[in-house]
Amino acid sequence: MTNNNNMQPIFILPEDTKRTTGRDAQRNNIAAAKAVAQTVRTTLGPKGMDKMIVDSMGGVIVTNDGVTILKEMQIEHPAAKMVVEVAKTQEDVVGDGTTTAVVLAGELLKKAEDLLDQDIHPTVLARGYRLAEVEAQNILKRICEHISLQDEDLLNNIAITAMTGKGAEANKEPLAKLIVKAVKGLTEMIDGKLRVNVANIKVEKRVGDGIEESELIEGIVLDKEKVHTEMPVKVENAKIALLDSALEIKNTEIDAKIQITNPDQLNSFLEQEERSLKMMVEKVKLSGANVLFCQKGIDDLAQHFLAKAKVLAVRRVSKSDMEKLAQATGAKIISNWKELSEEDLGYAGLVREEKVANEESIFVEKCLNPKAMTLLVRGGTEHVAEEIKRAVTDALGDLAAALKEGKVVAGAGSTEIELALGLKRYASTLSGKEQLAVQAFAEAMEIIPRTLAENAGLDPIDVLTKLRLEHERNNKWAGINVFTGEVMDAWKSGVIEPLKIKTQALSSAAEVAEMILRIDDVILGGKSEHHQLPPNMHGLM
Ligand code: ADP
Ligand code: MG
Repeated sequence: MTNNNNMQPIFILPEDTKRTTGRDAQRNNIAAAKAVAQTVRTTLGPKGMDKMIVDSMGGVIVTNDGVTILKEMQIEHPAAKMVVEVAKTQEDVVGDGTTTAVVLAGELLKKAEDLLDQDIHPTVLARGYRLAEVEAQNILKRICEHISLQDEDLLNNIAITAMTGKGAEANKEPLAKLIVKAVKGLTEMIDGKLRVNVANIKVEKRVGDGIEESELIEGIVLDKEKVHTEMPVKVENAKIALLDSALEIKNTEIDAKIQITNPDQLNSFLEQEERSLKMMVEKVKLSGANVLFCQKGIDDLAQHFLAKAKVLAVRRVSKSDMEKLAQATGAKIISNWKELSEEDLGYAGLVREEKVANEESIFVEKCLNPKAMTLLVRGGTEHVAEEIKRAVTDALGDLAAALKEGKVVAGAGSTEIELALGLKRYASTLSGKEQLAVQAFAEAMEIIPRTLAENAGLDPIDVLTKLRLEHERNNKWAGINVFTGEVMDAWKSGVIEPLKIKTQALSSAAEVAEMILRIDDVILGGKSEHHQLPPNMHGLM
């Protein structure tokens, strides 16, 4: 709004546009980001609490997983959403460390706010944060340790660390063994680098029975049943066909107008349809297949013929399961039944249907050299099973990340204290206001051990003092024992995490903090009722 000669105000935006500028905008955005961090903070670490989220349909989720909480909360504040994105990125890239990333982002902004209050310009701050982040990544590279596929104990500890404090806690040892076995079985060396495609490890949950009943299937488990009761319940030495089109007469053929003038014609029409379906099944049989997985539907009559031919058939298998079946059995997915031949078939020692905890399941197991496997996790109730599945998925992501880079660090706050110390030293080499920014960044790192301590009911000041002292004595893996409040060697205690958790959390937390700091004008366009200006932080607090 400016004034012209006649002192008439000029409006460049529609009258109902809401706008905040300058420090107000910054304060608002920072408050929203901090609120997001605050919500997940209490879940961090082995002693973190869980959250119960009830959606509008009354569905209940009980979880300790940062990204799950934030996704379910339907946060609407624009700056808060940017922080939620940090958790989602972390989830996509690593699969674990989502709470860490969000808590770091919140703390970076909180520290920044103190400096803004001292009239340090946001661009100076953002530049200082950038410098600090680069240095932090250097420190991480320097302190990390190496890991290979042979380090069974380390791999086990990574899986256990990922599951500590989650629903899987009580059974983390046996679960970790299964997870490590799956990952080891599927790791490939590509261009001199280890690769595990976590997508090829299916985590399937079944409700009922204890967690200890969980098992690793060297093959695929589907929540499906065979299409016809007369089909065999189990097939040994299974030759498996994968078809991604329907085993039906095409709709277009049925929809086409047919003039039928006498009963004979109708009969012959039906006979022809029957012949076609028979031919399809005949072709399946001819290929030598005795098990058929179809991504689409299978006609009733075709089901009947398949049953007669003693073929075990399953329909409407999801695309991702079809792909996993191909990986596990070596079968080729065929689109046209006419092209099905023996070379396209896959193999499994056994395919069987079994009720697991009241749910019909198809087991495709005893595969030769499978490139996909299934972790069948069990939990007493739906909520428990879901949370275990999330914990197991975190562990899988961590193992894959650790092997891919071949680098790990110790947790329990040790890495973050080491970063804080290194960054403080770096800050002292700088001058002016940037020094203050790097210093603030360094202090923000301590939020992780501080929160671990707080969540464990320990005195954070006491814990931090002890930790700093140990790190100054060059004990880089000195971390907090959340059960005793004492300092422990986190490496020797087996609290191990992939380096990638830390590098990714740092870079996205720093990035979002810098981005939010640079915003000095929030213009809410659109007339949607939803968009009200903060401080009405929808969905928050
Ligand atoms: P995130 O979503 O960030 O992975 P978690 O709730 O999984 O959050 O907590 C991870 C934090 O807990 C890490 O800082 C990790 O080092 C720490 N942690 C895990 N296991 C232990 C343990 N046994 N003792 C102390 N800290 C631990
Ligand atoms: Mg975790």
